[in-house]
Amino acid sequence: MTSTPQTDVIVVGAGLAGLVATAELVKAGKHVTIVEQEPAASFGGQAWWSFGGLFLIDSPEQRRLGVHDSLELARQDWFGSAGFDSADDYWPRLWAEAYLQFAAGEKRAWLHEQGVRFFPIVGWAERGGYTATEHGNSVPRFHITWGTGPGVLAPFVARVKQGVRDGLVTVKHRHQVDELIVEAAEGGTGGAAGSGSGSGGGAASRTRVVGVRGSLLEPSRVARGVTSSRTVVGEFELRASAVIVTSGGIGGNHDLVRQNWPKRLGAAPASMLSGVPSHVDGRMLGISQTAGARLINSDRMWHYTEGITNFDPVWPQHGIRILPGPSSLWLDATGRRLPVPLFPGFDTLGTLEHIVSTGYDYSWFVLTQKIIEKEFALSGSEQNPDLTGKNLRLLAKRVGPGAPGPIEAFKAKGVDFVVADDLPTLLAGMQRLSGEVPLDTARVEQEIRARDREIGHPFTKDLQITAVRGARNYLGDKLIRVASPHELLDPAAGPLIAVKLHIVTRKTLGGIETDLAGRVLASGGAPIEGLYAAGEASGFGGGGMHGYRSLEGTFLGGCIFSGRQAGRAVAAAL
Ligand SMILES: Cc1cc2nc3c(=O)[nH]c(=O)nc-3n(C[C@H](O)[C@H](O)[C@H](O)COP(=O)(O)OP(=O)(O)OC[C@H]3O[C@@H](n4cnc5c(N)ncnc54)[C@H](O)[C@@H]3O)c2cc1C
Repeated sequence: MTSTPQTDVIVVGAGLAGLVATAELVKAGKHVTIVEQEPAASFGGQAWWSFGGLFLIDSPEQRRLGVHDSLELARQDWFGSAGFDSADDYWPRLWAEAYLQFAAGEKRAWLHEQGVRFFPIVGWAERGGYTATEHGNSVPRFHITWGTGPGVLAPFVARVKQGVRDGLVTVKHRHQVDELIVEAAEGGTGGAAGSGSGSGGGAASRTRVVGVRGSLLEPSRVARGVTSSRTVVGEFELRASAVIVTSGGIGGNHDLVRQNWPKRLGAAPASMLSGVPSHVDGRMLGISQTAGARLINSDRMWHYTEGITNFDPVWPQHGIRILPGPSSLWLDATGRRLPVPLFPGFDTLGTLEHIVSTGYDYSWFVLTQKIIEKEFALSGSEQNPDLTGKNLRLLAKRVGPGAPGPIEAFKAKGVDFVVADDLPTLLAGMQRLSGEVPLDTARVEQEIRARDREIGHPFTKDLQITAVRGARNYLGDKLIRVASPHELLDPAAGPLIAVKLHIVTRKTLGGIETDLAGRVLASGGAPIEGLYAAGEASGFGGGGMHGYRSLEGTFLGGCIFSGRQAGRAVAAAL
């Protein structure tokens, strides 16, 4: 057993939420020990890999592009998408409102003050396609951070590293927490904390979380994001006045994803790619539950349907999500077009539900070279060297002819791509990638030709074409995101491309129930003394501030807001 010195606060997990909480604690002069199961190479967790998209309301970037946004409109969109519908949504609703105020208020100024800058063109994610009170963003709100994920992390990494130099932060890598230490609170009668499904408010009022126990993992020299060994070489125990759990979600653990898969989405897909490293293992959720924490909304999750197999994987089953513009024709595995309004980039979970209902776990985009050049972006810092590296020369290529290098690389090397000069060759390639599943090639041809007949005049009954034309009224879309409408079979727009799209796991929308201070609640509703949670582990606040659906760009911001809330609350409480 390694004996460890006392510290004010233990933060479990060196992802964005943990780093933000730590930075706030350091600012208040507290000593923090961060315990992290991964080696130093993976410092920063998922956020480093992220695209760095941030949800902001009524920003200068929006205003410059003529986008009139407001807190009221964003609230309408958020609550219309969230669909909060149960008593468990009490804290999630309050977190949603507080987060909206943050995103419309000090969020941008606070980040700007710390050096975060934004790409001037605001993206329009999750466009919805329903009525005004239902899912989707009424306006573009997806602000890409200059420097992508690493750019979001940078100020918090700097503040934490300064804390290390000032002797206020200790970072312990290869420390895997297996247990939260629960003891009788002062004046309490003692007794074990809850087990399994939580122990009730009584136990919470008598106990206190005083530290963590866990396994020392063998040193690892693997690169960032690569799965590290779980060979245990020792144990540790560490005590503090408070513990903040910022351990992330469950997306890297397909067993947990399947176990919690919502019945409303049908059966869990037989095969999925992983959009997150394997350290996103969800173990800490069960460990927190054993200490009495209440987990809520565990069946709410956010997985993508536009996943492609990474030809150069970092972690197991590494999938990359295409961030699509609206023009590609979206077909199910058999070749049938997806129903309205399931157009690319409109309704992630609606599309997931539909695809699962087809009985297959994949679907197809059919598009042209002209569309791929303008409309395909890949989510991930490493897939956007121009934005991540703040490289203006590379960035300029986005507006010029040709697709960005990473897209062309996938087109050439990706196993999910078919590129062909004519339709019969494209269909044969699609059938080849379908294996045993029969593709109705006549149907695909009919869908393509029917869609093309709708293009050549200003009228159409095809709502996807109306949506594409509408999108081009927005300068940001017209400049870099939406190709001018054209026939898919126009040779001048070619070659033709088909992309086999897989389901790729990503975010956990439910989690540890917390109040607005980030205090972890037990099943009776009382806070568990000494225990806090933030980031994806707490469903980005409250145990699920997104409800059932997200407006996108809300996860990094959710880590920043909930990490800041928890850090400040712990500092005030000590
Ligand atoms: C490719 C990609 C693109 C994305 N793009 C965006 C985007 O554009 N916009 C957006 O808003 N969001 C985006 N996200 C989501 C966002 O990055 C994550 O939701 C967020 O970074 C989660 O941060 P976190 O601090 O809660 O958890 P994590 O980053 O998962 O960090 C948790 C840390 O806790 C550690 N840990 C877990 N259990 C233990 C334990 N038992 N003991 C010790 N340590 C433990 C883990 O090793 C990990 O380092 C993206 C994510 C990915 C992967």
